[in-house]
Amino acid sequence: MAENRARRIAKLIAPLRVEPGTKVTLAKDFDPAYKAGFLNKKDGEELLQGGVELLVEYQARLAAQDTWGMLVCLQALDAGGKDGAIRHVLSGINPQGVHVSGFKVPSAEELNHDYLWRYAQRLPGRGEIGIFNRSHYEEVLVVRVHPEILDRQNLPAAAKGKGVWERRYQEINDWEHYLSDNGFKVVKLFLNLSREQQRIRFLKRVDLPDKNWKFSANDAKERAYWDDYQKAFSEMLSNTSTPWAPWYVIPADHKWFARICISGVLAHTLMDIDPQYPKVDAAKLKELAETRVLLEAEAPAGAEPDPFAASLAAEAAKAEAKKHGGSNGDDPGL
Ligand code: ATP
Ligand code: MG
Repeated sequence: MAENRARRIAKLIAPLRVEPGTKVTLAKDFDPAYKAGFLNKKDGEELLQGGVELLVEYQARLAAQDTWGMLVCLQALDAGGKDGAIRHVLSGINPQGVHVSGFKVPSAEELNHDYLWRYAQRLPGRGEIGIFNRSHYEEVLVVRVHPEILDRQNLPAAAKGKGVWERRYQEINDWEHYLSDNGFKVVKLFLNLSREQQRIRFLKRVDLPDKNWKFSANDAKERAYWDDYQKAFSEMLSNTSTPWAPWYVIPADHKWFARICISGVLAHTLMDIDPQYPKVDAAKLKELAETRVLLEAEAPAGAEPDPFAASLAAEAAKAEAKKHGGSNGDDPGL
């Protein structure tokens, strides 16, 4: 059953993965409206619910084991659906185990450091899931599309000259390799939205008063750079999808399908880590047994010495009775 589920998830996300070393041309290789043969949103709802439950279980184990961490980098064009995906996919997860960090235009203090500094400050700890809502990839996206931003980064001449993007790809790959060697799985999701869907979503933000706050005139201006972004995303995917930190291109025109895919990628990564609840040693088991004796001895007169164990035993007996002929032990009415 669990294996079946793992296989289904692997099959769903395989076409979304950017194979390391392959050259990607977004427009040609990935369809923003893809939905893997799913007919509609209703088909997908149950699947998403299943994915979310899986994440809850694995996150609990990840936290208990306290050895591995997971960093999820979310990138998208404006209105790609990052915020909604975070809200839906992470619903139900223990908030203590997840940290979401958003990255906007860097502050003066951030610009005063190397370009990876501010991202390093927000990395998850062991047992945690860190979500980067925008990430260090902005350093080869918006900074590449708008070279004047690079000029503002106070870099020495050699660090911004020819070959700067190739160098940054390499530096980012090396950084992620280092993180992965240290027990932090890095998984990267690009929400691939079509130009037309972006137009429609922007209009929704203009038309609906409750959404007005989400819209900035600057977002519409960035649309003029659509082709430059497509190129920058394609190059980023081609150069930074690695065996230790792969990219997944999430078809984002159908939000419901995007969310299924995202929960699938996260579940797949966690299954790969396969975190386990720590096993206790013989000394600890002995200590637990002694504690039980002490607590049972404190039961008030007439009370069950261990009500929890008693309820477990009753449940087990009921299940056993059901297995043998559907009787639950009550009067069968004959
Ligand atoms: P989002 O757009 O992610 O939904 P938001 O609308 O709340 O979030 P914005 O005010 O749009 O936040 O901030 C994100 C902006 O910051 C984007 O335009 C992005 O290009 C810009 N940004 C992010 N990282 C950098 C960076 N390293 N250098 C320059 N600009 C950056
Ligand atoms: Mg924005």
